Amino acid sequence: MDPIALALPVFVVAILGEALWARRVGRDVIDFDDAVAALATGILQRAWLLLLAAPLALPYAALWEHRLIELPLWLEWVVGIVGVDLCFYAWHRWSHVSHLGWATHLVHHQSERYNLAVSLRQSATEPLSSLPFYLPLALGGVSLEVLVAAGSINLLYQFVQHTELADGPAWWGTVFVTPSHHRVHHAVNPAYLDKNFGGMFILFDRAFGTFAPEEERPKYGTVAFAQTYDPIWANAFWFAKMAEIARASSGWNRWLVPWRSPSWGTQADSAERPPFRPNGGRGHEAYVTFQLGAAVVLLGAAMALVPAPIAATGVAVSLTMAGVVWGRIFERRPWRALEGIRLATNAAAWWLLAGPAAGSVALLWAAASGAWVAQGAKLGSSQGVTRSP
Ligand SMILES: [Zn+2]
Repeated sequence: MDPIALALPVFVVAILGEALWARRVGRDVIDFDDAVAALATGILQRAWLLLLAAPLALPYAALWEHRLIELPLWLEWVVGIVGVDLCFYAWHRWSHVSHLGWATHLVHHQSERYNLAVSLRQSATEPLSSLPFYLPLALGGVSLEVLVAAGSINLLYQFVQHTELADGPAWWGTVFVTPSHHRVHHAVNPAYLDKNFGGMFILFDRAFGTFAPEEERPKYGTVAFAQTYDPIWANAFWFAKMAEIARASSGWNRWLVPWRSPSWGTQADSAERPPFRPNGGRGHEAYVTFQLGAAVVLLGAAMALVPAPIAATGVAVSLTMAGVVWGRIFERRPWRALEGIRLATNAAAWWLLAGPAAGSVALLWAAASGAWVAQGAKLGSSQGVTRSP
């Protein structure tokens, strides 16, 4: 079972808690559409990991069989926790300085906000590009079990750094990453670009010359911003850009594009570009909230049950479609026909995952949701699930 399945309720409670706290102290740090679009990318990544995790683990486990050192368990944990963050640092730095790496990481930076939901904004292709960076740990004697556990601890640590509302004590930031350090990492201020890559230990940035303290107010986002709430396009955006740059290049340059800096061949956005703030209108929020809740339950059940490939594929397709529908709602593009297909796919996924009883409940859910959508379409304007701009 994926240990992150147990953390899903914690993520939900923490994100809601941060939103309520922000409202109470009068801070504008989150908006509904942006946060749901972020969660959609995280759900998409985890859903496809249901299929990818086992093949991705194979080379690591095979290399561990040929480990060069046998570590006592306590030392394996120490090497695992520190080593995972060092490997993360190396991958993360590479991902910011090469087109190919950036294509597999920029989803995490595609928000102009900074809040706990942004931490779950993740590229579906990141597990593929980051795997080679973790392989040395296998030779160093860290088992797959310790790697997964250390990786989960690292992920949970990084989760709580994504906030503007709190910072740890100053002494903590001598060794460990703080929210302030990571805000710098998410900013496009020239002084902050390509800084603070550490996930857990800021020591690596201090040692390798990539540390920057937070001195001016961060402006979040990316230099060339993907203006989309569609999770598929969010993941494909930079690959498409790379192909475009390669087509415009000639000779060897064409093949070197993936290894060059992401600024190579790229136009930065103009300083006058307004913030990306499409809004589906208030009426859609209740509907999307219910569907998001159902999607999290499906993902959690699938992560806990370790499904067969056919069920995992059904779950991944259904959850991917959910994110696409929400993106279309937020960007006010047609979505109802796709939602009908998505609700049917969702029922099939539940059936494959947990049997006919679960599939039947999901069919009832589909019928109730379909009626809600139809009612919303009939009511139009401010009620139901649609509202005119
Ligand atoms: Zn980054």
